[in-house]
Amino acid sequence: MPTETRTTCPYCGVGCGVIATTDNKGAVSVRGDPDHPANFGRLCSKGTALAETIDLDGRILHPQIDGQRASWDAALDLVASHFTETIAEHGPDSVAFYVSGQLLTEDYYVANKLMKGFIGSANIDTNSRLCMSSSVAGHVRAFGADTVPGAYEDIELADLVILAGSNLAWCHPVIYQRLAAAKAARPGMKIVVIDPRRTVTADIADLHLAIRPDGDVALFMGLLAHVAGTVAIDQNYIGEHTNGFAEAFAAASALSHSDLLDLTGLPSMQLRQFYRLFAESEKVVTCYSQGVNQSASGTDKVNAIINCHLATGRIGRPGMGPFSLTGQPNAMGGREVGGLANMLAAHMAVESPENCDRVQRFWQSPRIARKPGLKAVDMFRAVADGRIKALWIMATNPVVSMPDADAVATALAACPFVVVSDVLRQTDTTAYAHVLLPSRGWGEKNGTVTNSERRISRQRDFLPSPGDAKADWWQMAEVGRRMGFADTFSFSSAAEIFAEHAALSALENDGSRDFDIGAHAQADSAAYDAMTPFQWPQPRHTSPRITRFFGDGGFFHADGKARFVAVGVTISDRTSADFPFTLNTGRIRDQWHTMTRTGKSARLSAHIAEPFAEIHPRDALEIGVASAALVEIESPYGKAVVRALVTDRQARGSLFVPMHWNDQFAARARIDAVVAPRTDPVSGQPASKNVAVVARPFPVAFYGFAISVTKPSDLDAAYWAMAKAEGGWRLELGFDMAPQDWTAWCRRYFSVPADIEPLGYVDAQSGDLRLAFFDGDRLLAALFVARQPVAVARNWAIEQLTVQHSELARRFAVVAGRPDAGRMDPGATVCSCFGVGVNQIVAAVHGGCHSVETVGKALSAGTNCGSCRAEIRGIIDGCLAAAAE
Ligand code: SF4
Repeated sequence: MPTETRTTCPYCGVGCGVIATTDNKGAVSVRGDPDHPANFGRLCSKGTALAETIDLDGRILHPQIDGQRASWDAALDLVASHFTETIAEHGPDSVAFYVSGQLLTEDYYVANKLMKGFIGSANIDTNSRLCMSSSVAGHVRAFGADTVPGAYEDIELADLVILAGSNLAWCHPVIYQRLAAAKAARPGMKIVVIDPRRTVTADIADLHLAIRPDGDVALFMGLLAHVAGTVAIDQNYIGEHTNGFAEAFAAASALSHSDLLDLTGLPSMQLRQFYRLFAESEKVVTCYSQGVNQSASGTDKVNAIINCHLATGRIGRPGMGPFSLTGQPNAMGGREVGGLANMLAAHMAVESPENCDRVQRFWQSPRIARKPGLKAVDMFRAVADGRIKALWIMATNPVVSMPDADAVATALAACPFVVVSDVLRQTDTTAYAHVLLPSRGWGEKNGTVTNSERRISRQRDFLPSPGDAKADWWQMAEVGRRMGFADTFSFSSAAEIFAEHAALSALENDGSRDFDIGAHAQADSAAYDAMTPFQWPQPRHTSPRITRFFGDGGFFHADGKARFVAVGVTISDRTSADFPFTLNTGRIRDQWHTMTRTGKSARLSAHIAEPFAEIHPRDALEIGVASAALVEIESPYGKAVVRALVTDRQARGSLFVPMHWNDQFAARARIDAVVAPRTDPVSGQPASKNVAVVARPFPVAFYGFAISVTKPSDLDAAYWAMAKAEGGWRLELGFDMAPQDWTAWCRRYFSVPADIEPLGYVDAQSGDLRLAFFDGDRLLAALFVARQPVAVARNWAIEQLTVQHSELARRFAVVAGRPDAGRMDPGATVCSCFGVGVNQIVAAVHGGCHSVETVGKALSAGTNCGSCRAEIRGIIDGCLAAAAE
């Protein structure tokens, strides 16, 4: 009988419930859990494709020491002895853990306990530092604790939803689906998108504010000054529950209207429209994400937003409040246990002696960290300059994701001892590991995660652990035991760890701390296994319910009041004559982080198969970059080469490049190597969305496109980007000069046997070349080369890897690079779930399908996960507008 397991998606902070079904033969399929309150059965394209990413290809299955297979005992003994000796010789702060929002809460708990309670340093930081630490800092400043006040249903209940620095349609797709459905049901609901880029999310906005980079603080200061002069101001709430309004208002009112126009770059009419909408809408939710957080003024942005909600008392009531949307699946869980270097545990600040004493007592630990540790950027600086001599990296890929990523690679290369726990053998970071430890992946591990609305859900195992893979918490507990703390790190299950975590949250907590899940402190394995998703807080003797904070005050500063923060504007324009563009980095719809998992899915890679830079048409013209040509982007820190995507969705003077690509999938597209290591002074979060760069054409003598059933490696080409495709791999290429022999080049990189002769041609005059290699009826590889970007129907060409080519006409069609008569090129993939391309959608629109629903009926596109519905709507609008001209 097939078995069903209720678990949670491992990608974004929405935290969707997933039902994984394993059939009699062990095949896994997934669907959304209709009973999970985050998604009610919905999944986005990434969640829908989860079953395609759980194969063992590329997995590390056994511990390795210096690249050689080792036993767990040998590897753990080495880690424990090396950390112990380093601490003995250089002190606790000479070692560090760099962990991840991909870890489960139980993993995080053990890592934090080992570092802060037993090693005695706070040098544990998480990659969540890169995604939402400005929200944490803003919450703590305003509320006295890192508290997200509301729940997802507030977004549906609001009359006005503001999306600040959030491409919700691509980055939190199921929340976007819930919002879009709410707006469809209640068209009076208004949506405002604040983003320098016209993203697909902006397509459902009633108002898109194409703000200047980092103009948000000024925008919300202006809003505070505006609402103060309207009936929207809530003097009772301000008087009873807050402090500091006068100072914040004085700072905000110091900006004149013309200052606001200048600082935000917005037209006066739009500014007034936004302010009026906010003032007139009682139920308003402001969702914010990386566009707010990843900034040198990220914490001020968060407080500028919160100030407006405090001033109107619109917080913690249904349909109202500021709402930080976290990037990672368990960024919130990491915050709860103290995975950030400036938090102790269970939302207790490390600076408080009372907290330190309480936690030390609870842990019965020999020592306790009493000062904040190094935040991510500073941590890798300390690795580089030798202050940190032993580093353990867990479930993250900093050589791709950290700013100034080349410097991170250099630091790791020089570090005396690097341990990496991962599921994959080969990532840009595992290359630097002295000890590589095999971790369990999604479907194999067991624990909890917390989503953006404070909802704790179980991730459950439904697959056996492959090889010697072990839970991350087990690895750390074993090292703790071997470092001499055997009694304390004797955990035998995730359930035991969770119960301890819950007990700590409730310890001497009379409501003075927000994070309290004491109701689970006695949970045994059976209760843990049966746990259903619940929102915190859930103190002892209480039942799960929808929870909100601060509707009636009750803040966590000592006086119980919130703080307005008198923020000020800082210089946001970083450009100069040498670096005239502003680089903005971010995510795309169908990839997750550094592609180590989503890159395994051909379906997900079909949406966007290559790294790109969005550039405005006039900018492209001025710097001489043609559409689909290659562009080099450079800052004082590094360079990247990507495809130019010329579009007026991008504002003039700025570029957008996705953060996903790494050295496994492209020659030089690690865009974080270009990002400056500039951070917010309060939160330490890097400013990954406002980087001064120069962009220029990246000249190549020949462009190429290739398909191959085998995966090429060590490609000899000036530019390459590869992606998994159905039946093999697809490659985009650029060559400085022609190889001596194109056929030999193909044989080498596509593993074509020597006895298979190519079908094709070379046009010596134009430089065009086409080579296709067939083994009987089967296409093994094909290469298309031209002096201009290659015009080949990509998706149709990829299909040729999986079809029979018994007729000569079909083989010649492959060489021609286009379908033979009667067949259609589907065009670039829009709907990943059903493999529907843009040309098919355009044809359907021309055939009379003028709505997303009718396109869905005709082609099924957009009818499964719905992640592409915004793009389908855009294609329909474009076709109809063109027809009306
Ligand atoms: Fe996973 Fe998508 Fe849900 Fe995020 S929105 S948790 S990626 S299914």
